[in-house]
Amino acid sequence: MPGKVVRVRRRERLGWAERLYLPTIFVGLAVTCRHFMRNFWGYMLGKPRTFVVQYPEERLDYADAFRGHPVLVALDSGKPKCVACGLCEFACPTDCITILPGETDEKIERVPAVFDIELTRCMFCGLCEEACPEEAIVMSRDVELASYERIDGLHHMSDLLRPEPEVKRRLDFIRREYNR
Ligand code: SF4
Ligand code: SF4
Repeated sequence: MPGKVVRVRRRERLGWAERLYLPTIFVGLAVTCRHFMRNFWGYMLGKPRTFVVQYPEERLDYADAFRGHPVLVALDSGKPKCVACGLCEFACPTDCITILPGETDEKIERVPAVFDIELTRCMFCGLCEEACPEEAIVMSRDVELASYERIDGLHHMSDLLRPEPEVKRRLDFIRREYNR
């Protein structure tokens, strides 16, 4: 689905009031005061309306378009859906995907013998997902990747494999998005 284009018109020369920034400052203060009063009366009346998420115990449900780190889709047999064509590796702007193809006797002929993603270099752009003709690599909803050692950022195929039902929401989204 194409994005919505918003046309922004800016005058080349600002008026004297705009150059003082005073109207904008007052608008900003009015917004702050409105929120303050709303929260204040909420607390006074025992109905707080402050928007606070107690992360990590509480989590928001992100939009369908949300992109976490890429993962590999597993078949029912547990093997990767990937056919080691290398398109995602080629599309990746940060060169963080490494694939070594291997042969198989199955119908697809090629499977990845090695599929590594260096997630410390990944920028969650989703180009690998867009390039994949097999829907074998998709963006997950996982973003928590902190680790003490840099080497822990290197994720191997066994770390990346996810059963298809786990990534169904993303698969449905990309099918809608790319009219597949
Ligand atoms: S999301 Fe972008 S940076 Fe990360 S592996 Fe895919 S193509 Fe590379
Ligand atoms: S583009 Fe898809 S099928 Fe090709 S190597 Fe990447 S994940 Fe595998």
